[in-house]
Amino acid sequence: MFSKNQTIEVKIVDLSHEGEGIGKSNAFTWFIKDTVPGDTVEASVMKVKKTYGYARLQKIIIPSPDRVKPLCPIARACGGCSLQDMNYEAQLEFKKNKVKNNLERIGEFDLDSEDAGIEFFDTIGMDDPWRYRNKAQYPIGLDRNGNVIAGFYAMHSHNIISCEDCLIGIKENKAIIECIKKQYDPSMRHILIRKGFKTGQIMVCVVASKKIKVVMPPELGITTTVLNINDKDTNVILGDKTIVLDGPGYIEDYIGNLKFRISAQSFFQVNPVQVEKLYGKAVEFAGLTGCETVWDLYCGIGTITLSLAEKAKMVYGVEVVEPAIRDAEENAGLNGINNARFYVGKAEEVILRDDFEKPDVVVVDPPRKGCDEVCLDTILKMKPDRIVYVSCDSATLARDLKILCAGGYELKKVQPVDMFPHTVHVECVVLLSHISCVEPK
Ligand code: SAH
Repeated sequence: MFSKNQTIEVKIVDLSHEGEGIGKSNAFTWFIKDTVPGDTVEASVMKVKKTYGYARLQKIIIPSPDRVKPLCPIARACGGCSLQDMNYEAQLEFKKNKVKNNLERIGEFDLDSEDAGIEFFDTIGMDDPWRYRNKAQYPIGLDRNGNVIAGFYAMHSHNIISCEDCLIGIKENKAIIECIKKQYDPSMRHILIRKGFKTGQIMVCVVASKKIKVVMPPELGITTTVLNINDKDTNVILGDKTIVLDGPGYIEDYIGNLKFRISAQSFFQVNPVQVEKLYGKAVEFAGLTGCETVWDLYCGIGTITLSLAEKAKMVYGVEVVEPAIRDAEENAGLNGINNARFYVGKAEEVILRDDFEKPDVVVVDPPRKGCDEVCLDTILKMKPDRIVYVSCDSATLARDLKILCAGGYELKKVQPVDMFPHTVHVECVVLLSHISCVEPK
């Protein structure tokens, strides 16, 4: 048996869904962070269970052909980009496999058989998988020597590790952070920066426990500066009150040709380049001709709803967060869309109302935990021709698809999209079609 701190030599053959390398020695399985399939490594034993254990990487003996040097010097300490030491093609392959494993293991789908007729596409990646995030949140505070630092929290702690130029964030972050550090006040907690990639507009939001002055110099080209007051002792970054210090208090950006207004509190997808590809697939899979009634459940600020509205007769969006629905209605107005209606409430409750038109297509984009069972049951009773499922967690996706397929649907298309390069996350768009529904060829 193995003992703690013992040195082992292992060949890494796979990656766990969390991005840890998996190695085998005899019938024993090792999980070793910061390794890549194809590596042979020396590692020291941390924890041993009956059939598996965890070890810490000590030395790479033979590097995998897929191994690359992470561009970010602190990728390992940060842990956010756990795939940075793997080349981008291999990352996309890993994500496709993650979806495949979940659909096969949890959903019991056979993706390889021709008879099943499921089209399973390669992950849609980015041409340039860096500087893709339009939003950054930096905690700000003092280090042990009393110097002002901003960066990110070290894993499992509230110690700030200095990092002002995260490589998946925008270049402008660095100068903004430097400028705010010079105006440091002990009441400051976080700096939130958002950029509209198409409009070039930038919002700076300083989160502080009390009202303070923050001035951004004109040469930084900031569109609007706001102060958010958060005096609560919790992990939630933003408080309820936002004071506009300069500019309109919001920025605008586009997804496709649709314009959206984004305030400090609004939810907006963080990878605007990939989100167009994701929504493009959702709209394509919905197969709209202009006569359909469509439901968009878990609609957020209505980004998918409005993308669908252009091609449908009528679209209904349902979302549990009330301010998001207000944004959705405003966004519909901003784009002159008048065939979209929005409802506040839980999807599983709102769709139980019997005064709604029967949908031809239902789109769902639930949070990680997936759809509520009542919601799935109700969708099955409504019997739309097509269901488009947008998912950020392929395990709950697989669970829900199994229920929908047992209730009369066939899985037709699966499209993974890489919204978060270098992280283990993968987004997916899936098309289901009712068995009674003849697909136009
Ligand atoms: N489709 C949107 C948002 C997806 S995120 C977009 O692409 O931008 C998932 C959304 O589901 C969040 O806005 C969350 O507030 C909402 N939500 C969570 N549980 C819900 C429920 N039971 N009913 C309706 N909406 C819910």
